[in-house]
Amino acid sequence: MVWHEVDLVVVGGVVLTADQDWNIYDPGAVAVDRGAIVGLGPREEVEQEYRGRERIDASGKLVMPGLINAHTHAPMTLFRGLADDLPLETWLHEYIWPAEAKWLGPDFVRLGTQLAAAEMIRSGTILFCDMYFFEDDIAEVCKEVGIRVVIGGALVDFPNANYKTPEEGLKYSEYLLRKWGDDFLVVPSIQPHSPYATSSNLMQQGKELADQYGAPYLLHVSETQSEVQESIEKHGRTPVGRLADLGVLGPTTVAIHAAHLTDEDVELLAQYEVGVVHCPESQLKLASGFTPVPKLLEAGVEVGLGTDGAASNNDLNMFGEMGTAARLHKVMAHDPTVIPARQALSMATLQAARVLGLEDRLGSLEVGKRGDMIVLDLDVPHMVPVYNITSHLVYAAHCSDVCTVIIDGRVVMRDRVLLTLDEGEIFARAREMARQIVAGWGA
Ligand SMILES: [Zn+2]
Repeated sequence: MVWHEVDLVVVGGVVLTADQDWNIYDPGAVAVDRGAIVGLGPREEVEQEYRGRERIDASGKLVMPGLINAHTHAPMTLFRGLADDLPLETWLHEYIWPAEAKWLGPDFVRLGTQLAAAEMIRSGTILFCDMYFFEDDIAEVCKEVGIRVVIGGALVDFPNANYKTPEEGLKYSEYLLRKWGDDFLVVPSIQPHSPYATSSNLMQQGKELADQYGAPYLLHVSETQSEVQESIEKHGRTPVGRLADLGVLGPTTVAIHAAHLTDEDVELLAQYEVGVVHCPESQLKLASGFTPVPKLLEAGVEVGLGTDGAASNNDLNMFGEMGTAARLHKVMAHDPTVIPARQALSMATLQAARVLGLEDRLGSLEVGKRGDMIVLDLDVPHMVPVYNITSHLVYAAHCSDVCTVIIDGRVVMRDRVLLTLDEGEIFARAREMARQIVAGWGA
Protein backbone atom coordinates (compact mmCIF):
# COMPACT_ATOMS: atom_id res chain seq x y z
CA MET A 1 0.00 0.00 0.00
CA VAL A 2 1.38 3.41 -0.96
CA TRP A 3 0.95 6.01 1.71
CA HIS A 4 0.92 9.76 1.48
CA GLU A 5 3.02 12.06 3.59
CA VAL A 6 0.93 14.87 5.10
CA ASP A 7 1.54 17.70 7.57
CA LEU A 8 -0.26 16.21 10.56
CA VAL A 9 -2.08 13.10 11.71
CA VAL A 10 -4.11 12.82 14.89
CA VAL A 11 -4.52 9.15 15.71
CA GLY A 12 -6.47 7.06 18.16
CA GLY A 13 -9.22 7.91 20.53
CA VAL A 14 -12.85 8.64 19.82
CA VAL A 15 -13.30 10.89 16.79
CA LEU A 16 -16.63 12.72 17.03
CA THR A 17 -17.19 14.35 13.65
CA ALA A 18 -20.35 16.28 14.69
CA ASP A 19 -21.28 16.11 10.99
CA GLN A 20 -24.83 15.89 9.67
CA ASP A 21 -25.02 12.16 10.50
CA TRP A 22 -23.08 12.41 13.78
CA ASN A 23 -20.51 9.86 12.59
CA ILE A 24 -18.16 8.61 15.30
CA TYR A 25 -14.96 6.60 14.70
CA ASP A 26 -13.61 4.71 17.70
CA PRO A 27 -10.71 4.46 17.43
CA GLY A 28 -10.46 6.97 14.64
CA ALA A 29 -7.88 9.24 13.04
CA VAL A 30 -7.69 12.51 11.12
CA ALA A 31 -5.09 13.49 8.51
CA VAL A 32 -4.47 17.15 7.74
CA ASP A 33 -2.45 18.64 4.91
CA ARG A 34 -1.95 22.32 4.07
CA GLY A 35 -4.52 23.19 6.70
CA ALA A 36 -7.29 20.99 5.28
CA ILE A 37 -8.66 17.62 6.39
CA VAL A 38 -7.60 15.06 3.74
CA GLY A 39 -8.30 11.81 5.59
CA LEU A 40 -10.81 10.84 8.24
CA GLY A 41 -12.20 7.53 9.47
CA PRO A 42 -11.27 4.37 11.36
CA ARG A 43 -7.71 4.58 12.74
CA GLU A 44 -6.36 1.60 10.77
CA GLU A 45 -7.60 2.90 7.43
CA VAL A 46 -6.27 6.43 7.93
CA GLU A 47 -2.92 5.17 9.28
CA GLN A 48 -2.49 2.88 6.28
CA GLU A 49 -2.98 5.75 3.89
CA TYR A 50 -1.30 8.70 5.63
CA ARG A 51 1.94 9.41 7.48
CA GLY A 52 2.20 12.74 9.27
CA ARG A 53 5.32 14.84 9.56
CA GLU A 54 3.76 15.71 12.91
CA ARG A 55 1.82 13.13 14.86
CA ILE A 56 -0.49 13.55 17.81
CA ASP A 57 -1.39 10.42 19.74
CA ALA A 58 -4.94 10.87 21.01
CA SER A 59 -5.36 7.31 22.29
CA GLY A 60 -7.90 7.23 25.10
CA LYS A 61 -8.91 10.81 24.31
CA LEU A 62 -11.67 12.53 22.34
CA VAL A 63 -11.10 14.36 19.04
CA MET A 64 -13.85 16.75 17.91
CA PRO A 65 -14.39 19.98 15.96
CA GLY A 66 -13.21 23.12 17.73
CA LEU A 67 -15.92 25.27 19.27
CA ILE A 68 -17.22 28.48 17.73
CA ASN A 69 -18.02 31.48 19.91
CA ALA A 70 -20.49 33.34 17.70
CA HIS A 71 -20.51 36.60 19.67
CA THR A 72 -18.08 38.32 21.98
CA HIS A 73 -16.20 41.54 22.65
CA ALA A 74 -12.74 40.04 23.24
CA PRO A 75 -10.87 43.05 24.74
CA MET A 76 -13.52 43.35 27.46
CA THR A 77 -11.66 40.58 29.31
CA LEU A 78 -9.79 43.55 30.86
CA PHE A 79 -13.12 44.72 32.40
CA ARG A 80 -13.97 41.26 33.77
CA GLY A 81 -15.59 41.71 37.18
CA LEU A 82 -15.27 45.51 37.09
CA ALA A 83 -19.01 46.05 37.58
CA ASP A 84 -21.43 43.20 38.26
CA ASP A 85 -24.97 42.68 39.50
CA LEU A 86 -26.37 45.71 37.64
CA PRO A 87 -29.11 46.25 35.03
CA LEU A 88 -27.85 46.42 31.43
CA GLU A 89 -28.50 50.16 31.01
CA THR A 90 -26.77 51.13 34.29
CA TRP A 91 -23.93 48.72 33.60
CA LEU A 92 -23.39 50.18 30.10
CA HIS A 93 -23.96 53.90 30.77
CA GLU A 94 -22.34 54.25 34.19
CA TYR A 95 -19.51 51.75 34.03
CA ILE A 96 -18.59 50.16 30.72
CA TRP A 97 -18.92 53.13 28.35
CA PRO A 98 -17.12 55.57 30.72
CA ALA A 99 -14.35 53.01 31.28
CA GLU A 100 -14.04 52.51 27.52
CA ALA A 101 -14.01 56.27 26.94
CA LYS A 102 -11.03 56.53 29.27
CA TRP A 103 -8.98 53.44 28.37
CA LEU A 104 -9.85 52.37 24.85
CA GLY A 105 -6.94 52.33 22.40
CA PRO A 106 -4.90 49.91 20.28
CA ASP A 107 -2.66 48.77 23.16
CA PHE A 108 -5.64 48.07 25.43
CA VAL A 109 -7.39 46.16 22.67
CA ARG A 110 -4.31 44.10 21.83
CA LEU A 111 -3.70 43.10 25.44
CA GLY A 112 -7.37 42.26 26.04
CA THR A 113 -7.44 40.16 22.87
CA GLN A 114 -4.32 38.23 23.90
CA LEU A 115 -5.91 37.45 27.25
CA ALA A 116 -9.17 36.44 25.53
CA ALA A 117 -7.33 34.28 23.00
CA ALA A 118 -5.49 32.44 25.78
CA GLU A 119 -8.77 31.77 27.58
CA MET A 120 -10.58 30.71 24.42
CA ILE A 121 -7.86 28.37 23.15
CA ARG A 122 -7.60 26.76 26.59
CA SER A 123 -11.35 26.13 26.50
CA GLY A 124 -11.40 24.68 22.98
CA THR A 125 -12.60 27.67 20.94
CA ILE A 126 -11.09 27.91 17.46
CA LEU A 127 -13.10 30.87 16.14
CA PHE A 128 -14.75 33.85 17.76
CA CYS A 129 -16.93 36.50 16.20
CA ASP A 130 -15.98 39.86 17.63
CA MET A 131 -17.65 43.26 17.79
CA TYR A 132 -15.52 46.04 19.20
CA PHE A 133 -13.27 48.96 18.29
CA PHE A 134 -9.78 48.84 16.75
CA GLU A 135 -10.67 45.52 15.14
CA ASP A 136 -7.63 45.81 12.86
CA ASP A 137 -5.45 45.36 15.95
CA ILE A 138 -7.62 42.44 17.07
CA ALA A 139 -7.15 40.78 13.68
CA GLU A 140 -3.38 41.26 13.87
CA VAL A 141 -3.20 39.70 17.32
CA CYS A 142 -5.29 36.74 16.14
CA LYS A 143 -2.97 36.23 13.16
CA GLU A 144 0.04 36.10 15.50
CA VAL A 145 -1.72 33.72 17.87
CA GLY A 146 -3.21 31.54 15.11
CA ILE A 147 -6.84 31.72 16.24
CA ARG A 148 -9.71 32.41 13.83
CA VAL A 149 -11.76 35.58 14.17
CA VAL A 150 -14.68 37.29 12.48
CA ILE A 151 -13.92 40.97 13.02
CA GLY A 152 -16.50 43.73 13.05
CA GLY A 153 -15.84 47.32 14.03
CA ALA A 154 -18.84 48.43 16.09
CA LEU A 155 -20.78 51.05 14.12
CA VAL A 156 -22.25 53.63 16.51
CA ASP A 157 -23.54 57.18 16.15
CA PHE A 158 -21.34 58.67 18.85
CA PRO A 159 -17.64 59.58 18.59
CA ASN A 160 -15.21 57.10 20.15
CA ALA A 161 -11.47 56.49 20.37
CA ASN A 162 -11.54 54.55 17.09
CA TYR A 163 -13.35 57.13 14.94
CA LYS A 164 -15.03 60.52 15.32
CA THR A 165 -18.01 60.34 12.95
CA PRO A 166 -20.25 57.59 11.52
CA GLU A 167 -18.69 58.28 8.09
CA GLU A 168 -15.24 57.55 9.50
CA GLY A 169 -16.65 54.42 11.13
CA LEU A 170 -17.89 53.22 7.74
CA LYS A 171 -14.56 54.04 6.13
CA TYR A 172 -12.76 52.05 8.82
CA SER A 173 -15.12 49.11 8.22
CA GLU A 174 -14.43 49.25 4.49
CA TYR A 175 -10.70 49.36 5.20
CA LEU A 176 -11.11 46.12 7.22
CA LEU A 177 -13.11 44.50 4.40
CA ARG A 178 -10.39 45.33 1.89
CA LYS A 179 -7.43 44.45 4.09
CA TRP A 180 -8.70 41.13 5.48
CA GLY A 181 -11.05 39.95 2.70
CA ASP A 182 -8.79 37.15 1.47
CA ASP A 183 -7.28 36.06 4.74
CA PHE A 184 -7.45 32.39 5.79
CA LEU A 185 -7.92 33.11 9.52
CA VAL A 186 -9.65 36.48 9.60
CA VAL A 187 -13.15 37.11 8.21
CA PRO A 188 -14.17 40.78 8.07
CA SER A 189 -17.80 41.66 8.73
CA ILE A 190 -20.02 44.69 9.27
CA GLN A 191 -21.40 45.11 12.78
CA PRO A 192 -23.69 48.00 13.67
CA HIS A 193 -23.91 48.00 17.48
CA SER A 194 -27.72 47.93 17.73
CA PRO A 195 -30.88 49.64 16.47
CA TYR A 196 -30.74 51.94 19.53
CA ALA A 197 -27.06 53.01 19.26
CA THR A 198 -26.87 53.09 15.44
CA SER A 199 -29.03 55.34 13.24
CA SER A 200 -31.27 53.92 10.50
CA ASN A 201 -29.05 55.56 7.92
CA LEU A 202 -25.86 54.07 9.33
CA MET A 203 -27.43 50.60 9.58
CA GLN A 204 -28.52 50.81 5.92
CA GLN A 205 -25.17 52.10 4.69
CA GLY A 206 -23.48 49.30 6.62
CA LYS A 207 -25.72 46.73 4.97
CA GLU A 208 -24.91 48.08 1.51
CA LEU A 209 -21.22 47.82 2.30
CA ALA A 210 -21.63 44.26 3.65
CA ASP A 211 -23.49 43.17 0.51
CA GLN A 212 -20.96 44.84 -1.76
CA TYR A 213 -18.18 42.75 -0.21
CA GLY A 214 -20.26 39.61 0.51
CA ALA A 215 -19.59 40.04 4.22
CA PRO A 216 -21.73 38.96 7.18
CA TYR A 217 -23.79 41.68 8.92
CA LEU A 218 -24.32 41.32 12.66
CA LEU A 219 -25.99 43.49 15.29
CA HIS A 220 -27.44 43.27 18.81
CA VAL A 221 -31.25 43.15 18.49
CA SER A 222 -34.08 43.12 21.05
CA GLU A 223 -31.81 42.37 23.98
CA THR A 224 -34.05 43.91 26.64
CA GLN A 225 -37.75 44.57 27.08
CA SER A 226 -37.08 48.31 27.44
CA GLU A 227 -35.28 48.36 24.07
CA VAL A 228 -38.37 46.88 22.45
CA GLN A 229 -40.71 49.33 24.22
CA GLU A 230 -38.60 52.33 23.22
CA SER A 231 -38.50 51.15 19.62
CA ILE A 232 -42.29 50.84 19.53
CA GLU A 233 -42.70 54.31 21.10
CA LYS A 234 -40.16 55.97 18.81
CA HIS A 235 -40.63 54.09 15.53
CA GLY A 236 -43.98 52.32 15.91
CA ARG A 237 -42.25 48.98 15.28
CA THR A 238 -40.40 46.30 17.23
CA PRO A 239 -36.63 46.37 16.54
CA VAL A 240 -36.95 43.32 14.23
CA GLY A 241 -39.91 44.87 12.39
CA ARG A 242 -38.00 48.10 11.99
CA LEU A 243 -34.94 46.29 10.59
CA ALA A 244 -37.22 44.52 8.09
CA ASP A 245 -38.66 47.89 7.03
CA LEU A 246 -35.14 49.28 6.64
CA GLY A 247 -34.25 46.42 4.30
CA VAL A 248 -31.31 45.15 6.33
CA LEU A 249 -32.59 41.62 7.02
CA GLY A 250 -31.37 38.77 4.83
CA PRO A 251 -29.47 35.46 4.80
CA THR A 252 -26.18 37.16 5.77
CA THR A 253 -27.76 39.13 8.64
CA VAL A 254 -27.29 37.85 12.17
CA ALA A 255 -29.38 39.04 15.11
CA ILE A 256 -27.44 38.85 18.38
CA HIS A 257 -29.58 38.05 21.47
CA ALA A 258 -33.04 38.42 19.84
CA ALA A 259 -34.44 37.83 23.31
CA HIS A 260 -37.78 39.64 23.16
CA LEU A 261 -39.60 38.57 20.02
CA THR A 262 -43.21 38.71 18.96
CA ASP A 263 -44.61 35.93 16.80
CA GLU A 264 -44.32 38.30 13.86
CA ASP A 265 -40.62 38.90 14.70
CA VAL A 266 -39.97 35.14 14.66
CA GLU A 267 -41.75 34.85 11.31
CA LEU A 268 -39.71 37.72 9.87
CA LEU A 269 -36.41 36.20 11.03
CA ALA A 270 -37.39 32.87 9.45
CA GLN A 271 -38.69 34.48 6.26
CA TYR A 272 -35.49 36.50 5.71
CA GLU A 273 -33.29 33.55 6.78
CA VAL A 274 -31.65 35.65 9.48
CA GLY A 275 -29.34 33.76 11.87
CA VAL A 276 -29.52 34.30 15.63
CA VAL A 277 -26.82 34.22 18.31
CA HIS A 278 -27.92 33.20 21.78
CA CYS A 279 -25.71 34.21 24.72
CA PRO A 280 -27.41 32.44 27.63
CA GLU A 281 -25.00 33.24 30.48
CA SER A 282 -24.76 36.95 29.70
CA GLN A 283 -28.53 37.14 29.31
CA LEU A 284 -28.99 35.35 32.64
CA LYS A 285 -26.51 37.58 34.47
CA LEU A 286 -27.97 40.83 33.11
CA ALA A 287 -31.49 39.40 33.57
CA SER A 288 -32.13 40.79 30.11
CA GLY A 289 -34.42 37.99 28.93
CA PHE A 290 -34.06 34.75 27.02
CA THR A 291 -33.82 34.07 23.34
CA PRO A 292 -36.79 31.80 22.51
CA VAL A 293 -34.49 29.18 21.01
CA PRO A 294 -36.97 26.27 20.72
CA LYS A 295 -39.46 28.55 18.93
CA LEU A 296 -36.77 29.86 16.57
CA LEU A 297 -35.50 26.37 15.75
CA GLU A 298 -39.03 25.21 15.09
CA ALA A 299 -39.49 28.12 12.68
CA GLY A 300 -36.32 27.04 10.86
CA VAL A 301 -34.01 29.80 12.15
CA GLU A 302 -30.34 28.80 12.60
CA VAL A 303 -29.08 29.53 16.12
CA GLY A 304 -25.47 29.72 17.31
CA LEU A 305 -24.12 30.25 20.81
CA GLY A 306 -21.87 33.02 22.08
CA THR A 307 -20.43 34.14 25.38
CA ASP A 308 -20.86 37.89 24.84
CA GLY A 309 -18.08 39.93 26.48
CA ALA A 310 -16.26 38.78 29.62
CA ALA A 311 -17.59 41.83 31.48
CA SER A 312 -21.13 40.42 31.35
CA ASN A 313 -20.54 36.66 31.50
CA ASN A 314 -17.82 36.62 33.09
CA ASP A 315 -15.82 34.06 31.15
CA LEU A 316 -15.38 32.95 27.54
CA ASN A 317 -16.09 29.27 28.11
CA MET A 318 -18.26 27.70 25.41
CA PHE A 319 -18.68 24.45 27.38
CA GLY A 320 -20.48 26.58 29.95
CA GLU A 321 -22.70 28.13 27.27
CA MET A 322 -23.69 24.72 25.87
CA GLY A 323 -24.59 23.38 29.30
CA THR A 324 -26.46 26.53 30.26
CA ALA A 325 -28.40 26.68 26.98
CA ALA A 326 -29.45 23.04 27.29
CA ARG A 327 -30.63 23.49 30.90
CA LEU A 328 -32.14 26.97 30.62
CA HIS A 329 -34.65 26.13 27.90
CA LYS A 330 -35.72 22.96 29.67
CA VAL A 331 -36.74 24.87 32.76
CA MET A 332 -38.29 27.70 30.71
CA ALA A 333 -40.45 25.18 28.82
CA HIS A 334 -41.01 22.85 31.83
CA ASP A 335 -39.89 20.15 29.43
CA PRO A 336 -36.63 18.15 29.84
CA THR A 337 -36.72 17.03 26.19
CA VAL A 338 -36.11 20.59 24.92
CA ILE A 339 -32.60 21.39 23.51
CA PRO A 340 -31.10 17.90 23.78
CA ALA A 341 -27.31 17.54 24.02
CA ARG A 342 -26.79 17.17 20.27
CA GLN A 343 -28.69 20.38 19.62
CA ALA A 344 -26.62 22.26 22.21
CA LEU A 345 -23.34 20.95 20.76
CA SER A 346 -24.44 21.77 17.23
CA MET A 347 -25.14 25.39 18.23
CA ALA A 348 -21.46 25.66 19.21
CA THR A 349 -20.16 23.86 16.10
CA LEU A 350 -22.00 23.25 12.80
CA GLN A 351 -24.99 25.52 13.39
CA ALA A 352 -22.74 28.32 14.61
CA ALA A 353 -20.70 27.94 11.42
CA ARG A 354 -23.95 28.16 9.40
CA VAL A 355 -25.01 31.32 11.23
CA LEU A 356 -21.68 32.93 10.26
CA GLY A 357 -21.78 31.57 6.68
CA LEU A 358 -18.69 29.42 7.23
CA GLU A 359 -20.20 25.91 7.14
CA ASP A 360 -18.29 24.97 3.98
CA ARG A 361 -15.04 25.34 5.94
CA LEU A 362 -15.80 24.79 9.62
CA GLY A 363 -18.18 23.33 12.18
CA SER A 364 -17.61 19.59 11.70
CA LEU A 365 -14.80 17.17 10.94
CA GLU A 366 -15.19 16.26 7.26
CA VAL A 367 -12.76 15.71 4.41
CA GLY A 368 -12.36 19.01 2.57
CA LYS A 369 -13.08 21.19 5.60
CA ARG A 370 -10.32 23.04 7.45
CA GLY A 371 -8.20 21.17 9.96
CA ASP A 372 -9.63 22.73 13.11
CA MET A 373 -10.06 20.33 16.02
CA ILE A 374 -9.61 19.89 19.73
CA VAL A 375 -8.52 16.93 21.83
CA LEU A 376 -10.12 16.32 25.22
CA ASP A 377 -8.90 14.26 28.12
CA LEU A 378 -11.32 11.46 29.01
CA ASP A 379 -9.18 10.20 31.90
CA VAL A 380 -10.86 12.41 34.49
CA PRO A 381 -13.50 11.24 36.99
CA HIS A 382 -16.36 13.36 35.64
CA MET A 383 -15.99 11.82 32.15
CA VAL A 384 -16.16 8.17 33.35
CA PRO A 385 -17.94 6.03 32.21
CA VAL A 386 -19.02 7.02 28.70
CA TYR A 387 -22.43 5.92 27.43
CA ASN A 388 -22.99 8.94 25.22
CA ILE A 389 -20.05 11.22 24.49
CA THR A 390 -22.21 14.13 23.30
CA SER A 391 -24.12 14.11 26.58
CA HIS A 392 -20.81 14.32 28.48
CA LEU A 393 -19.67 17.30 26.40
CA VAL A 394 -22.79 19.27 27.28
CA TYR A 395 -23.55 18.10 30.82
CA ALA A 396 -20.26 16.94 32.35
CA ALA A 397 -17.15 18.21 30.54
CA HIS A 398 -15.02 21.02 31.97
CA CYS A 399 -13.30 23.45 29.67
CA SER A 400 -10.03 22.43 31.34
CA ASP A 401 -10.45 18.94 29.85
CA VAL A 402 -9.24 20.39 26.53
CA CYS A 403 -5.58 19.41 26.19
CA THR A 404 -4.70 20.06 22.54
CA VAL A 405 -6.03 22.59 20.03
CA ILE A 406 -5.35 22.61 16.28
CA ILE A 407 -6.42 25.51 14.05
CA ASP A 408 -6.03 25.32 10.28
CA GLY A 409 -3.64 22.41 10.80
CA ARG A 410 -1.42 24.34 13.22
CA VAL A 411 -1.08 23.09 16.78
CA VAL A 412 -1.63 26.14 19.00
CA MET A 413 -1.92 24.24 22.30
CA ARG A 414 -0.29 20.91 22.96
CA ASP A 415 -0.81 18.98 26.21
CA ARG A 416 -2.19 22.16 27.83
CA VAL A 417 0.83 24.27 26.86
CA LEU A 418 -0.01 27.34 24.77
CA LEU A 419 2.51 27.48 21.94
CA THR A 420 1.77 30.95 20.55
CA LEU A 421 1.11 33.06 23.67
CA ASP A 422 3.20 34.00 26.70
CA GLU A 423 0.62 33.77 29.48
CA GLY A 424 2.97 34.95 32.25
CA GLU A 425 3.62 38.20 30.45
CA ILE A 426 -0.06 38.69 29.48
CA PHE A 427 -1.28 38.09 33.03
CA ALA A 428 1.26 40.55 34.48
CA ARG A 429 0.29 43.25 32.01
CA ALA A 430 -3.46 42.65 32.50
CA ARG A 431 -3.07 42.91 36.30
CA GLU A 432 -1.13 46.15 35.89
CA MET A 433 -3.83 47.49 33.56
CA ALA A 434 -6.48 46.67 36.17
CA ARG A 435 -4.47 48.53 38.84
CA GLN A 436 -4.44 51.60 36.59
CA ILE A 437 -8.18 51.31 35.90
CA VAL A 438 -8.95 51.16 39.64
CA ALA A 439 -6.53 54.01 40.44
CA GLY A 440 -8.02 56.21 37.71
CA TRP A 441 -11.68 55.47 38.49
CA GLY A 442 -13.58 58.73 38.89
CA ALA A 443 -10.40 60.76 38.49
ZN1 LIG B 1 -22.62 41.84 22.86
